[in-house]
Order: sequence, then structure tokens, then C-alpha cells
Amino acid sequence: MDDLKQIIRDIPDFPKKGIIFKDITTLLADAKSFHRMVDLLAHRYLGEKIDQIVGIEARGFILGAALAYKLGTGITLVRKPGKLPYKTSSISYELEYGHDSLEIHEDAFQPGDRVIVADDLLATGGTMAAVVKLVERNGAVLHECAFMAELEFLNGRSKLPDGKVYSLLKF
Ligand code: AMP
Repeated sequence: MDDLKQIIRDIPDFPKKGIIFKDITTLLADAKSFHRMVDLLAHRYLGEKIDQIVGIEARGFILGAALAYKLGTGITLVRKPGKLPYKTSSISYELEYGHDSLEIHEDAFQPGDRVIVADDLLATGGTMAAVVKLVERNGAVLHECAFMAELEFLNGRSKLPDGKVYSLLKF
């Protein structure tokens, strides 16, 4: 796993001073690393009953689509406001400064659909916590939250359902 961790590039002071941004584009661009990352994550869920992968805009779409393809499921998109064309259900959540919201199509799930929610990186957990509420409110059952990487020192897991968080690479 160390080789996958090492290929992720640290960008200091992006998007603002004091943040060390984990740049996963270097992992995505490397054929072997990308393939291995997707295979390792998908392997965890092979044989499980999963109905949909939910991808969070924008980097969650990349992992989400790859996982959906490997597991033979569809992918449902959670997007920023105003991007989804049909009737939507939305949720607002707090950021460090101000708030943000995310939307999903209101007919995204059949009642009881088991879903994996995918995103690139777990930081404070605020975004994923909001998406978990959104999918549950729309009738789905959370199987697990899946991340390529996790910043453990931020303890984002504490905001998410116990035992339903998996990250491949821990920093
Ligand atoms: P959070 O809600 O704090 O868990 O983070 C939400 C999103 O912000 C994640 O989906 C990441 O894509 C992005 N993000 C937050 N912090 C970082 C970081 N240090 N490096 C890269 N991406 C980050």
C-alpha cells in the first residue's frame, strides 16, 4: 500500500495557507496505481448485495464510476446545486466558513436499495455525513462509505456511522 500512498502528491498551502492538499491526480494518471486502487477497493465488496454506488461531485465520480463498473451496479450522482436536471432532494451542511449544499435526484433509489457512497478523501467528514443523511432520507440503506484516502488526524470517522467507513490509504 505504501507505493500507492507515495504516488499521492502533497501540495502545501492549497487551496489556502496551512492546508496540505492531497493531490490524487498523480495516482489517477498512473495506469498501474489506478488499476490497483480500484481493484483493491472493489475486492472488498465482491459478492455483497450492492444496488447502487453513490458518487460525490467531483472526484467521487471517478472512484464511484470505476467501482460501479467492477461491481456491476449503476452509479447515482450527488451534485452541487443546480446541476441535476430532474426533481431533486437537497441537504445543507456547515463548512469552516458558511455552508454548502448537495443534491440528488428524488427518484434515485428504490426503497431499501443498498448503497456504497464513494469519495476521494475523508477529511473532516462533513461532506460524507451530509450525503449519508441525504441517501438515507431518500430511502436507501448505507452499506459503507468508501474512500481512496483518509486524513486520520482529522477524525472524520467520528461524524459517520460506526463501522461503516472504509479507506484504502491512511495518512
Ligand atoms: P471533508 O468534508 O472535510 O471530509 O472534505 C470534503 C472534501 O474536500 C473531500 O471530498 C476532499 O475531496 C476534499 N478535501 C478536504 N481536505 C482535503 C485535503 N487536505 N486534500 C485533498 N482534498 C481534500
